[in-house]
Amino acid sequence: MRKYVIMGVQGSGKGTQSELLARDLDLVHISVGDIFRWHVQKHTKLGAQVRRTMNAGDLVGDDLVESVVRDRLDQHDWNFGFIIDGFPRNGRQAEFFMESYDIDAVIHLELPDAEVRRRVLSRRLCPGCGMDYNLIADRPEQEGRCDICGTELIVREDDTPEALAARLKDYHEKTKPVLDIFRRKEVVHDIDARPAPEDVQQAIRKTLDLPAYKG
Ligand code: AMP
Repeated sequence: MRKYVIMGVQGSGKGTQSELLARDLDLVHISVGDIFRWHVQKHTKLGAQVRRTMNAGDLVGDDLVESVVRDRLDQHDWNFGFIIDGFPRNGRQAEFFMESYDIDAVIHLELPDAEVRRRVLSRRLCPGCGMDYNLIADRPEQEGRCDICGTELIVREDDTPEALAARLKDYHEKTKPVLDIFRRKEVVHDIDARPAPEDVQQAIRKTLDLPAYKG
């Protein structure tokens, strides 16, 4: 059983790296942001509660986030373990998480702010099937359309320069203390997130003593 947390500023590749790791190791990938986005798209009660906060690039309240994480982990569909992405985002969430679950490792993806801006502002999302694209590294074949389902691509509502600036500020203020809490337990692995995704994945495997990534 492997229990990992992956942390890193928006655009550092948390989602991609989590997916690559989860696929090979049969881990359940839990993205708190994806859970919220699903609720917003499906117009659920929870979606209505978090929509405005998310669009402003602010953090959702701790009680709500914790109950979403608890409900997800209570499904116990993670026989081989999980990798959780986008959580914990502040000291209180970290304390809650460490009290409830034993974490094997925290993967910390490091990326300079200037690179974050360049990456995030070029992200595009397919509202039809959820596929994501990047105008720098992962362009759709036909401009503005999803390769899979043909739906017109959109910019995530929180990927504007203003929302990004708010998220970066929040990240630096609130997430650093989380790393400090985890570092006291010596479970943090710092990874340079600037190289290509496969190389970053390889570095993660190496530091966690996992079988090499074969692509
Ligand atoms: P993400 O996709 O991880 O960037 O999350 C998108 C948005 O969901 C964030 O900007 C927050 O509004 C909300 N969110 C996701 N995870 C958390 C969390 N752990 N605590 C508070 N808000 C969160």
